[in-house]
Amino acid sequence: MKRIASKRGFTLIELMIVIAIIGVLAAIAIPDFNRARIQARQKACLANMRVVEGAIDMWEMDTDGDRFSTGDVNLDDGSGNATTDGQKLCPDYIKKFPRCRQKGVYAYKSADMAVWCNKHGTVDQPSDGTADVGYPTPGGGS
Ligand SMILES: [Zn+2]
Repeated sequence: MKRIASKRGFTLIELMIVIAIIGVLAAIAIPDFNRARIQARQKACLANMRVVEGAIDMWEMDTDGDRFSTGDVNLDDGSGNATTDGQKLCPDYIKKFPRCRQKGVYAYKSADMAVWCNKHGTVDQPSDGTADVGYPTPGGGS
């Protein structure tokens, strides 16, 4: 008789305790996953900006000290298509123009000689991508 009783499975209380523990663990883990995803996108964007800045430096060295741009110019349209200014770097200095995973637009700010993402700021002043940090004069060309 005792054996039959122990083979019936879990009681309702046992199942509820297990479900409550799983719920608590999920509540702890889900915000961490979101933060990790945001940080990963920011790091990827900063790496992209470093690559583009390096490519602009090489472009300027190869053109005997010409400035890449004397104004602030957009380098891409936010969906992975380089503008005319961005195309100056492809494919000689960058094989394919990088794309911000959070649909940011890359711009080159000539006064700072820095690449700027309107979601993630610059390499020196990064932003977490939760707010639009704006960018200098959209459009334009040199
Ligand atoms: Zn970005």
